[in-house]
Amino acid sequence: MTAPFREASIDLDAIADNVRHFRRLTGVEVIAVVKADAYGHGAAMAAVAALSAGATRIGVAEIPEALELRRQGVHAPIMAWLHAPGERFEQAAAQDIEVGISSFDQLEAAATAAAVDRPVGVHLKFETGLSRNGIAPADWGRVLAEAARLERIGRLRIVGLFSHLSNTSAEDDRAALAKFEEGVAAAASFGVHPEIRHIAATAAAIDLPEMRLDAVRIGVGLFGLSPFDDRSSAELGLRPAMTLRGAIAAVRRVPAGTGVSYGYDHRTDRDTTLVLVPLGYADGVPRNASGKLPVSIGGRRFVNVGRIAMDQFVVDVGDTPVSIGDEVVLFGDPTLGVPSAADWADAADTINYEIVTRIGPRVPRRAS
Ligand SMILES: *Cc1c(COP(=O)(O)O)cnc(C)c1O
Repeated sequence: MTAPFREASIDLDAIADNVRHFRRLTGVEVIAVVKADAYGHGAAMAAVAALSAGATRIGVAEIPEALELRRQGVHAPIMAWLHAPGERFEQAAAQDIEVGISSFDQLEAAATAAAVDRPVGVHLKFETGLSRNGIAPADWGRVLAEAARLERIGRLRIVGLFSHLSNTSAEDDRAALAKFEEGVAAAASFGVHPEIRHIAATAAAIDLPEMRLDAVRIGVGLFGLSPFDDRSSAELGLRPAMTLRGAIAAVRRVPAGTGVSYGYDHRTDRDTTLVLVPLGYADGVPRNASGKLPVSIGGRRFVNVGRIAMDQFVVDVGDTPVSIGDEVVLFGDPTLGVPSAADWADAADTINYEIVTRIGPRVPRRAS
């Protein structure tokens, strides 16, 4: 049987299991973060799988991502926290999208977008040290006073207070939490009592119980990947959801001394068999992993040879018998003996987050 030409199969049961794992581990609300097309896994199907397993809210970066989920039939609460300059939040309000607020102007825009008797749900984001967005401590008083007023007159519903951690060290994260607690106290002094406070993403949800508060925002862990350099998915009790595969597109028996791919960075040192794998950097295969990229063919590990091209790369399989159409597993669940996204990240000098997120649009995602 011929393997799929190119495919990322997405194990939705693994996503569901990972959500249950975080529910048990933390005992608090799980916000499933499916920004950037669920880190390349397919946002709508990942969101549905996460909600079916007990996640109660969806997190995305941008309003357009939230609107797309609504179009795909996701009715659960959705929050978005990174906005285009001048964003007016009208579509967000109409579709009941909760808005992360990082400035006074965003607060006013969200309130203006509210329909009569239909307050806009907001999560006020406090800057606590990451130096990205978030309301600066110097502005907390002014923003909180206005937020309290807008809530009283029915324009806003203050659903959450939140921040985001740097994961620099437990000490740095505790300093950020202390700053956040000052923000929560300031909010209370203005009569702002949110339904939920949330600061932890995957790493802090696992390692720092005091960060769990009322909810955790789980991204990479949802997809069964480890946020840590020194601990695997299996060590964390997580199951990787994505398996990237392709079918061998050509097989060539060559003599010693044969140049391979652009620039002949590699020449064969013996008579051998070269196979062509039809995924390249257009599909998210990192070019800077050329000559180092692990794959699995017929249950055996190989490393690619020569430069990774836009659409394809070459693997030297020695004297292993192979045929056109045989399956190549590029990465997946390493407990099944195949390379992991983390192995690819090591080869490409990056992180597993980037490996899965940049799998390109030519690769069909198939739920399994
Ligand atoms: C991406 C993101 C998350 C999820 O982070 P993970 O490390 O993937 O769990 C949570 N919160 C915010 C604000 C984010 O941008």
